[in-house]
Amino acid sequence: MDPERSRRYLDAMGVPVWRLRTADVEPQGPEQGLEEIEEIEKMPPPVQQGNSMASEPADLSNARVESPPATTPEAVPADGIAGADWERLSEAVSSCRACALCETRTRTVFGVGNRRADLMIVGEAPGADEDRQGEPFVGRAGQLLNLMLAAIGLEREQVFIANILKCRPPGNRDPRPEETLRCEPYLMRQIALVRPRVLLSVGRISAQKLLRTDAPIGKLRGRWFAFGPDEIPLTVTYHPAYLLRSPEQKSKAWQDLLKVMRRLRETAGDSGAEATG
Ligand code: URA
Repeated sequence: MDPERSRRYLDAMGVPVWRLRTADVEPQGPEQGLEEIEEIEKMPPPVQQGNSMASEPADLSNARVESPPATTPEAVPADGIAGADWERLSEAVSSCRACALCETRTRTVFGVGNRRADLMIVGEAPGADEDRQGEPFVGRAGQLLNLMLAAIGLEREQVFIANILKCRPPGNRDPRPEETLRCEPYLMRQIALVRPRVLLSVGRISAQKLLRTDAPIGKLRGRWFAFGPDEIPLTVTYHPAYLLRSPEQKSKAWQDLLKVMRRLRETAGDSGAEATG
């Protein structure tokens, strides 16, 4: 990566940068090198991860339903989703009525980017801007995400970006368990189709849902997990919306991004742009 270009993006991200005077080295955040946790931790795969998505539709009988849905949700046809190609999957998402969020959404937000990306980013759920435009991470947080990617030499179009939920929770409240459960087969199929070399989970909700844990994000970031049956390397970083509120955490996010960049370099691959919505 061109160090000068990277420095410019780091500057734009608001990450303080120091550099060695002599060497033409990669820009480094102030704490880089202090924390090198390289272990891969095996987490139990999500219930409907990978091929198991062909199994029964999610059984919600024991799920904690916090408030009755406004509609009678149709179950996500998990058997149809498991083998779906991009076209079928995208149609299934746009016509989905599996939870009450279909009543309040403006548009579904499928995901965007390179469908053969080496890096796939998983956020939480669409916000107001995304709900209007039908594309993930297009608001202020999205602009910061673009800068974060650029800082490690990636264009937005080179990665695939999706969310845990495809519809906006009203008022940007946290996703409810039944919503996550109903939406999960879509994301799992997206991951199976993209087959990224690295998964980057952004934010607490995304990390906790993907890793099936209640652990705080501070304990999850900076580590590698093996996700699902294919054991895709997954790492966690702070949500760009959180970084906008807490810019002092940007240097930690930069460390996380460097880990991603290194992992991508170690696993040779071509992420040539094949951008689609
Ligand atoms: N936050 C997310 O997690 N996803 C989006 O698409 C937008 C904001």
